[in-house]
Amino acid sequence: FRSIEEFHILNRVDEGSYGVVYKAVNKKTGDDVALKHFKRINERTGFSIAAQRELDLLMEMGHVNIVTGHEIVVGSRSDELFLVMEYVPHGVYNLMVTMRNYRLMFGPEHVKCLMLQLLSAVQYLHDSFILHRDLKTNNILLTEDGVLKVVDFGMAREFESPHQQLSPGVGTLWYCAPELLLHSKTYSSPIDMWSVGCIFAELVNMQPLFRGTSQLNQLKLIFQQLGTPSENVWPGYSALPLTSEVIFDQHPPGGLRKEIKPSLLSDSGLSLLEQFLTYDPSRRITATEALLHPYFDEQPVAIEPAMFLSSL
Ligand code: ADP
Repeated sequence: FRSIEEFHILNRVDEGSYGVVYKAVNKKTGDDVALKHFKRINERTGFSIAAQRELDLLMEMGHVNIVTGHEIVVGSRSDELFLVMEYVPHGVYNLMVTMRNYRLMFGPEHVKCLMLQLLSAVQYLHDSFILHRDLKTNNILLTEDGVLKVVDFGMAREFESPHQQLSPGVGTLWYCAPELLLHSKTYSSPIDMWSVGCIFAELVNMQPLFRGTSQLNQLKLIFQQLGTPSENVWPGYSALPLTSEVIFDQHPPGGLRKEIKPSLLSDSGLSLLEQFLTYDPSRRITATEALLHPYFDEQPVAIEPAMFLSSL
């Protein structure tokens, strides 16, 4: 590994769930980079494996909408490691916070521009048998040219490897698929599609869709809006570990329209959202199918990424 001395650290970008991300400059090339710090955890080698695994995943991938990983460098203390990545200046989450302060919202042309790029990244990941597992607005960034980049592969897994249970408190509840919340042991790529649906609604409404405070509360909020699932809409639902342990109130389906005004999302957009937020993972829309949805052909169509930031 090269040393952190090769970089000049400028400022802290954000505190992630596992470490801090810094903006830095490569002293030789003058390029901006992002440095993700890996905190030392109990096991002596644990943190280096986490950094190496995330870099390996990033290096394996080559897609414009997925952040590029460069290398791992060691810190001034030998128990520190940094993952060096291309620096992506604008966070979609932060952008929305700023816009909300000015009472601004994305138009359909902005939502479509972000969704097409996000879906393209997710299609690539799933075609490569990789689950991201932590898609959320904090993990989608934009370059100055409006090119969307998915970051944070700290939770990502290849499909083949045994599907570990997400431990409670890890990852973000608000984007978590119902099969995970109900402790299903056989989840796969549809979990990312649920998160994409939550992101879609958040871009339209400028606020997160299901803001649960615990796993159970998250399920309650989902059931209130989408209806309590049944064996009918979700074959296999009654056999999930948590379903038999908890008695949920019965709610009818169809509450989504109440959350999202027709002026913000057309009927076609709502139908796409409903297909992302389908309970039965085997019937939930895939990224490839979603990219072909008529919503994207409806006027106004997606704005060019290069025009995105200047048009806000
Ligand atoms: P963690 O896995 O610890 O949650 P992340 O990889 O999610 O860390 O990074 C935390 C935050 O840092 C992200 O939400 C994002 O705002 C910022 N960030 C991550 N990667 C980059 C990057 N390449 N360029 C700019 N900012 C980044």
